[in-house]
Amino acid sequence: MTAPTLSAPDTTTVVLEARGLTKHFTVHGGVPDAGRRLVRARRAPAVVHAVDDVSLALRTGAVTAVVGESGSGKSTLARLLARLIAPTSGELLLNGRAMPRTQRRRLAYAKTVQMVLQDPFASLNPIHDVRYHLSRPFKVHGLSRSDAELDGKIAAVLERVALTPADAFVRKYPHELSGGQRQRVAIARALAVQPRVLVADEPVSMLDVSIRLGVLNLLADLRDHEQLAILYITHDIASARYLADTVVVMYAGQVVESGPAVEVTDSPAHPYTQLLLSAAPDPERVTPVTLRGAGAPPSALAPPSGCRFRLRCPYAMAICAEQTPPAFAAADGHLSACWLLDERRDSAAPSAGGAKPDPASIATGEAASHLPAMPGRRSAGPGAGQDTPDTGQGEVMNTDEI
Ligand code: SF4
Repeated sequence: MTAPTLSAPDTTTVVLEARGLTKHFTVHGGVPDAGRRLVRARRAPAVVHAVDDVSLALRTGAVTAVVGESGSGKSTLARLLARLIAPTSGELLLNGRAMPRTQRRRLAYAKTVQMVLQDPFASLNPIHDVRYHLSRPFKVHGLSRSDAELDGKIAAVLERVALTPADAFVRKYPHELSGGQRQRVAIARALAVQPRVLVADEPVSMLDVSIRLGVLNLLADLRDHEQLAILYITHDIASARYLADTVVVMYAGQVVESGPAVEVTDSPAHPYTQLLLSAAPDPERVTPVTLRGAGAPPSALAPPSGCRFRLRCPYAMAICAEQTPPAFAAADGHLSACWLLDERRDSAAPSAGGAKPDPASIATGEAASHLPAMPGRRSAGPGAGQDTPDTGQGEVMNTDEI
């Protein structure tokens, strides 16, 4: 499959680009079965297809959201981009240049691309205060020559994340801070080395709903005022719409749809994106939504042939099992890896379980009548989203019960 590569929606500069990034993990000594019991070791090691052929570009002054359910490979992608793990294949380009190999250049990469982890409780050491956490990046990268200069820089970075006055926070320990304040300290630690790219792996998912908005608005400020390129990983498509300029939807390790955030969420072209949006709470929805074809994601050990979504897709056709769909253009800058958008296939034979709807209606989000209407344009706020539903294979899912 040719993974959707985001086309340029504007004139901003690409800072970090991934081309065909793939990560497979080899599992030795047996693998868990569906009931989480360890089955006998296989002769040949099993391979987990965590990320397959993902291409995307992060631009200055823009937020790119990667959306998907648990196990879709989005956190593995974040770690690949931060170079915490090495890819199986594919390449990373920083400012148009290939990934550095020397230790010195690797340190420069780490300075340019910083990561914010999901859990602010675990990412800060409970035995050290805020000053210690924020002094580390300055010392590791040789950015301060005296204690006075270090104190000044720590105060400045605390003010950048709105922890003011800095004196009130600098000597506090993690347990003395709220979840939101801890995540701001984690963001401040990432900002200390003046990165150009921030990879935020579900930065608000462990925070109370009431304080998510503050952290998302902080990320928006960093984008708008410091021109940071931000990768925002989330399972909550509503918060992705709120914050992001571009949305990339991942399913079973692959990109299935990408494009401008409003375009993708208003007019989802891929049935999986439609499923995600239908499952998101919508205060304007009056009648309960039912989705057909809902089920569990495939095993990453043995993903199905062709389209990996076909076992859950109500529109699955014969070709969906035979060939992996390439990225088709649904609109300007909006790509979807779905055979429904193949205009050459004007007489595709539907499978027993699904009829082929009009591709134009899919592209506008007005899917066939047996799918629910897509949520309309909403000012969805952070915290409005929920975890992706976990349903039994083939069950009818009532999303209001999720
Ligand atoms: Fe995949 Fe086919 Fe469904 Fe498109 S119609 S999402 S290609 S199974």
